[in-house]
Amino acid sequence: MTIFKQGSGQVQLSEAQVRERVQVLGREIAAAYEGKPLHLICVLNGAFLFMADLVRAIDLPLTLDFMAVSSYGSRTATSGEVRLTKDLDQSLKGKHVILVEDIVDTGLTMNYLLGYLKGRGPLSVGVATLLSKPSRRQVEVPINFMGFEIDDAFVYGYGLDVDHRYRNLPFVTSQEA
Ligand code: 5GP
Repeated sequence: MTIFKQGSGQVQLSEAQVRERVQVLGREIAAAYEGKPLHLICVLNGAFLFMADLVRAIDLPLTLDFMAVSSYGSRTATSGEVRLTKDLDQSLKGKHVILVEDIVDTGLTMNYLLGYLKGRGPLSVGVATLLSKPSRRQVEVPINFMGFEIDDAFVYGYGLDVDHRYRNLPFVTSQEA
């Protein structure tokens, strides 16, 4: 492993931990949705690696789609107002949807997206997130499939960025205090 890939901070979740947890989530989703029209929606950009690994861990026929959002304001002052920068390509009618997110922090983004998806008429909407910071929650959102609960630290790697960088780290790390 190169020096770059060791990151600058403290590794919170190793590559092996992430891999094992994603496999478990894939099995849980397969058990819950067997025989149902399953449709996964990836929230770009942060969830792209989680999505790629998760769908390969689900041993079921499924369809998938992508949407991209950008939040107004800074992380510390999230308004919950979300601008759709890429809308869905496919209809949600007649599908059981799982929204795949990188991290639920205040919950405002997820809350907005759930409302948006429910308005498009799916059979159901579930949530899968790699990470959750429960201590930061401002609005309660249901999480059906959760990778890891973490403390309140800014994390990056495995899809999550710092100013558009470090998304390719294969593990999750946090900035030094
Ligand atoms: P929320 O609306 O739940 O406060 O924020 C959700 C979004 O904020 C996530 O999808 C992610 O883009 C960003 N975010 C929240 N916490 C972190 C973090 O620790 N690291 C990174 N890279 N992004 C975060």
